[in-house]
Amino acid sequence: MSGRMSTDAVRPRHAAAALLCLALLVAACMSLAPAAAAERSLRGELKRVLLLHSFGREFRPWSEFARSIKAELEQQSPWPLDIQEHALLTARFNNPGPEAPFVEYLHSLYQGAMPDIVLSIGAPAARFAQRYRARLFPDTPLILSTVEQRLVNRADLTDNDVVIAVRNDFMAAFDNILQLLPDTRTIAIVIGASPLEKFWVEEVKRELKPLGERVELVWYSDLPFEEILKRAAKLPPHTALFWGLMSVDAAGIVHESDIALRSLHAVTNAPIFSYQDPFFGGSTVGGPMHSVAETSSRTVSAAIRILGGEKPGNVKYEPIGFAPPRYDWRELQRWGISESRLPPGSEILFREPNIWERYRWQMLLITAVFLVQAGLISGLLHERRRRRFAEVESRQRLAELAHANRYSAVGELTTSIAHELNQPLGSILTNAETAELMLKNPSPDMDEIRQILADIRRDDQRASEVIRRLRRVLRKTPFEVGEIELNDTVREAIGLVTAVADGRRIVLTYTPALTLLHVRGDPVQLQQVVLNLIINAMDAMSDAGMKKREVRVTTVRAGSYAEIRVADTGPGIASADLGSVFNPFFTTKPEGMGMGLAIVKTIVEAHHGTIRVENQPWGGAQFTIRLPLLD
Ligand code: ADP
Repeated sequence: MSGRMSTDAVRPRHAAAALLCLALLVAACMSLAPAAAAERSLRGELKRVLLLHSFGREFRPWSEFARSIKAELEQQSPWPLDIQEHALLTARFNNPGPEAPFVEYLHSLYQGAMPDIVLSIGAPAARFAQRYRARLFPDTPLILSTVEQRLVNRADLTDNDVVIAVRNDFMAAFDNILQLLPDTRTIAIVIGASPLEKFWVEEVKRELKPLGERVELVWYSDLPFEEILKRAAKLPPHTALFWGLMSVDAAGIVHESDIALRSLHAVTNAPIFSYQDPFFGGSTVGGPMHSVAETSSRTVSAAIRILGGEKPGNVKYEPIGFAPPRYDWRELQRWGISESRLPPGSEILFREPNIWERYRWQMLLITAVFLVQAGLISGLLHERRRRRFAEVESRQRLAELAHANRYSAVGELTTSIAHELNQPLGSILTNAETAELMLKNPSPDMDEIRQILADIRRDDQRASEVIRRLRRVLRKTPFEVGEIELNDTVREAIGLVTAVADGRRIVLTYTPALTLLHVRGDPVQLQQVVLNLIINAMDAMSDAGMKKREVRVTTVRAGSYAEIRVADTGPGIASADLGSVFNPFFTTKPEGMGMGLAIVKTIVEAHHGTIRVENQPWGGAQFTIRLPLLD
């Protein structure tokens, strides 16, 4: 510290120290105890500090400077401190009113108990302190801190004053914008309308003159803040916002600048730049700015020197310029500003660690889970393919088995078919012979012959129809699923066994449902199901002694299902066998294979249906098939 002092200042201090030493020596000679007490009282002396704020205690940027100065002062002061704060609210008004009552208030407060030092923060507080110091604190040292050099009233400075000035360099701030975003065509400037802010609007205009045509400057100082927000929300591309200050807007509304800045940041579609450290960290991109730390450390150092007895006139500092540029990484990302555009020596803050850095072990866990899951999925896919193959294969087998079963059924149908074919073929023969006879007649009745030929044709069609149906049932086909009408399908199956039933003297009746029954299925397979059930029913009634021999086939609609019921008047199924009849190779017949019902069940289930059997109370078995309806 002494290295910075002028020689004039050193001499009196040495003299004072010599006197003090002498006094202490004398005291020590008398007694050691009073010397220690003197030391303690020197250290314990309370210092009263008066802190004068400009717009209010919570107004950025000054509030941040004030907070930092206060904290550092409390930390560095070797004396206990009594810091009293007052805010100069009149600076908020566009037309400042009378300050006299506030001055009188301070006067009555400090009369007879003068502060040891007065610290003003910001230009309005500095002006006020200078204007009223003669009345309020004529002999108290005054530190005018955080004042832009242009606003220092040098004419009224006294020997008892210290100025900690800052220097705004708007050209540097705007150069920073154009350096980062060279395509910028317009810069909109946000500065409020209080007297201080009006002063700055003029200063910025004056300083930016050399920019000339390079960029268009838009001034928002005569707009209410609401309107500024509206405009900032839809700025044309290649526009940047310059945030000067917003303490009082053109409508006279007072704003805490940082809250206003945050709402601007929330709505705007353009990057915001500011030259004040207190606005950095969330809303602005960054650049060269005033550093709170530097200004407050100089202010505190000056205050301690003065409180320690140094003459204020000897404490002198040059105005503080902008600190080396600093940038907010998040804003650089948001506006796509490459780090290569930043000036050398820049500092980037708020860099967000990437997701791998931030959630290292969670990411490792997720990756591991993904890998395990991928393995499981591929395993399952492989398994599914295998199952599908197996399914296709088993269907193939089923089709083959069903085909074999159809042959055996057809074997039983031979009589029926022979009978069905016999009838039309017999008629054809008789009709042909009759026609031959008639043609021998010299004047044959041509109408009659035409009639006979028509009969022959009809019988031939009947015979072909029998063969066509037989072919259809015997055709070796894989499953051919389509939309079918169940009443028709069952009717066709019954057509194949009518003659067999007749031959065995069994009454076969069919009662179709009154509504159409649309299901998805393979008609040939389903006909085989019906055939198997009818043949089994007829087999059960083969005992010649039975009086009533009847097979009733009905189709009904039961909710969202279609049902085919095949009931007979046979002996029914022994209750012990009810659970086994669908098992493969279960048979009670001497030459039975035990495959019929197993195939029936497999076919029904392949159609997403169910089959059940029960003995009717009045005798005989009833098989019920349920198939899901399409509508
Ligand atoms: P199979 O006809 O070769 O014996 P099925 O699987 O068609 O093979 O029938 C299995 C058994 O179920 C038959 O042997 C018979 O005992 C019994 N069964 C099937 N349908 C009836 C029925 N309508 N009445 C009485 N028993 C039946």
